Amino acid sequence: MDYNAETMVIAGGGPAGLTAAIYAARAGISPLVFEGLVPGGQLAQEELIENYPGFPDGVSGPELAAAMRRQAERFGARFRPGEEISGFERAPGWRILVKTSSGESVLAKTLIGATGSRPRRLGIPGESDYIGRGVSYCAVCDAAFFKGMDVAVVGGGTSGLAAARHLSRLCKSVVVISDSPPEAEARLVKAFDGDPSVTIRLRARATGIVGDGSRVTAVRIADSSEAGEIPVSGVFVAVGQTPSVDWARGQVELDRHGRIHSWGGGTNVPGVFAAGDACEPFLRQVVTAAASGAIAATSAMRYLSRLNAEGHS
Ligand SMILES: Cc1cc2nc3c(=O)[nH]c(=O)nc-3n(C[C@H](O)[C@H](O)[C@H](O)COP(=O)(O)OP(=O)(O)OC[C@H]3O[C@@H](n4cnc5c(N)ncnc54)[C@H](O)[C@@H]3O)c2cc1C
Repeated sequence: MDYNAETMVIAGGGPAGLTAAIYAARAGISPLVFEGLVPGGQLAQEELIENYPGFPDGVSGPELAAAMRRQAERFGARFRPGEEISGFERAPGWRILVKTSSGESVLAKTLIGATGSRPRRLGIPGESDYIGRGVSYCAVCDAAFFKGMDVAVVGGGTSGLAAARHLSRLCKSVVVISDSPPEAEARLVKAFDGDPSVTIRLRARATGIVGDGSRVTAVRIADSSEAGEIPVSGVFVAVGQTPSVDWARGQVELDRHGRIHSWGGGTNVPGVFAAGDACEPFLRQVVTAAASGAIAATSAMRYLSRLNAEGHS
């Protein structure tokens, strides 16, 4: 037997991974948490969360994430900030060899994938050239860099509206480019009615991002009647999220939306568990991510007890 195997590796530093870490650590396992590139996960983008129980006046996402992390650390969870897992292999003796972004491999008895989701890209010319140089996927994180400037938000759904609201407090002007369904556009128009700093381009699409080689200078748009460029210094993309499950592809069963197919925290691979947005088919929220982190950790601990009972620990 390999006594050096980690009992539990958790991938993900969002509410699902952090809650899994709290449950495992409180049960006496000291899980090793690979937080990935975004500590706190999507919580880092949320200025005010008003629907997480226990906070009648709301709570800031980064504060909630920091509190969850402290709680996990207090019980003995160990963290690898900034490191991702890139995949895994089944290893002899009911072990899992977890591969990491640093090139290191970690042998583990259980792996919980709570890798959430990442912002969907537009896939238009110029977008990838100017990421971090005017193109952003997080208004709460990056708005301060665009203080007093003209910016665009691409996306007229809930996240586009939240981004525009946040940016309108700091930026000189915000143009929202939306081809959302009519109900979402009506909500958008109502939200900014009477706000001269926000212009809404309805039934329009962003078709390209233009720059001078070092920074964004304009966004190209088209609607049914015309195409043109709007001069802006920043383009905030808010067109939804896509599951971050590359590490699982080819090994773990995914559903038709590309999320991990999970039941009771388990997956089709013994010893591999999943939690949060990476597998949630119905309601992707902080409260459900936290709940499924708790379920995945508990399932993993039951699996460990079975391994133990069968003499594989
Ligand atoms: C703008 C916005 C506003 C929202 N507002 C609300 C709200 O008001 N209320 C609410 O309940 N929900 C809200 N949500 C949704 C909520 O934030 C998510 O459902 C929740 O954060 C999902 O948690 P998670 O832990 O599953 O994933 P995430 O929060 O996505 O965290 C994923 C974590 O995995 C890490 N990771 C990714 N890939 C890897 C890898 N390969 N290896 C290791 N780590 C990896 C990332 O670094 C990150 O730490 C909002 C979301 C957005 C984008």
